[in-house]
Amino acid sequence: MGNKPSNLFEMAQAQLDGAASIFNLEPGIHAILREPMRELHIYIPVKMDDGQTRVFKGFRVQHNNACGPFKGGIRFHPEETIYVVKALATWMTWKCAVVNIPLGGGKGGVICNPKEMSSCELERLSRGYIDAIWEFIGPDRDIPAPDVYTNPQIMGWMMDEYSKLRGQYTPGVITGKPLAIGGSLGRGDATARGGVYTIIEAASHLGVDLSSATVAIQGYGNAGSNAALILYDTLGSKIVAISDSKGGIYNKQGLDPHRVLQHKIETGSVINFPQAENISNAELLEVGVDILCPSGLETVITETNAGNIKAKIVAELANGPTTPEADEILFSSGIFVIPDFLCNAGGVTVSYFEWVQSLNRYYWDESEIHQRLGKIMKKAFQAVLAESLERKINMRLAAYVVAVARVAETMRLRGWA
Ligand code: GLU
Repeated sequence: MGNKPSNLFEMAQAQLDGAASIFNLEPGIHAILREPMRELHIYIPVKMDDGQTRVFKGFRVQHNNACGPFKGGIRFHPEETIYVVKALATWMTWKCAVVNIPLGGGKGGVICNPKEMSSCELERLSRGYIDAIWEFIGPDRDIPAPDVYTNPQIMGWMMDEYSKLRGQYTPGVITGKPLAIGGSLGRGDATARGGVYTIIEAASHLGVDLSSATVAIQGYGNAGSNAALILYDTLGSKIVAISDSKGGIYNKQGLDPHRVLQHKIETGSVINFPQAENISNAELLEVGVDILCPSGLETVITETNAGNIKAKIVAELANGPTTPEADEILFSSGIFVIPDFLCNAGGVTVSYFEWVQSLNRYYWDESEIHQRLGKIMKKAFQAVLAESLERKINMRLAAYVVAVARVAETMRLRGWA
């Protein structure tokens, strides 16, 4: 795979190169897929509550729209970089393709610290972001959604701003909206629920009994906390370790994820939870468990710690938690990885349902969403597993082969290369 990638986008390119060499992807299609189709760099002026104007830098990257409009979240993060957004946009292309939904890949980001901004400042920033990119997005062009540190309220402001600029109510421009303004039932915990469907498939393939399995959750935001709740409530798994950006907690007898969530809401972190021992994020990854769910930020499993991971299944609810070097170590240690763009594709899958419902102004009930989500995730998992067993390659490479082949076929048929 050549030299070690120096940033996340190079890591995404190296992964694509690895897959391309396995099934002889045509050089023209490979070259197109190595770069995004469009990269927007924007500067957003925002009037702050103290009367001063600050300018925030933001991005929207549109990687590929061969299969349908660009699709992907918007992150608000103080350490956002264009490389991260480009990598995440590229992974969205593979994510939509692996679950076979008619959407392409995109991602946005703004360099800001939402934890230090008031709600009014966040609203002005969200509207300003749309003012800067609105001509490049739309229900048939590019459909944003929530991601790290953005939420349904922010999507609501963005949908409203876009609708005002267009002069027409346009709920199909964005997904992850609040229910009352065109959101979908089941979108809130969709990333986690989709991930759990893939964990159920992996566990049955490996013969792991989920009703007695132990679980460690790294990252307790939307994906991590909902995965803990679903695994605990519906499958009876034992959640023994949980962490967030401030640190982690461990109790080998098991933690009640509802109480941990309440503690985080009250104190701002999971740490110092009664009846648990505080541990570091690094220690959490190395705890002896059946299932490890990295559910926070990128590149936490590296060549330095991959050899110490003891889990049987690593379910990547986060985007890009494992580096290519770590991948090889995990594979040779026999650890079964459910790769990110398969494991966390439930979010965009229910976003797809939301988009369809918003376009039709006709809304489905929750059981229908769950049932359709389960069917799609199971099918995607089985297609990747079959590819992995047939070619004797790891699950990530297999997911790439499935996804890239689908996008390449669409590009060929559209006459792009
Ligand atoms: N941000 C989520 C992801 O990385 C969801 C994207 C979407 O719903 O469009 O998959």
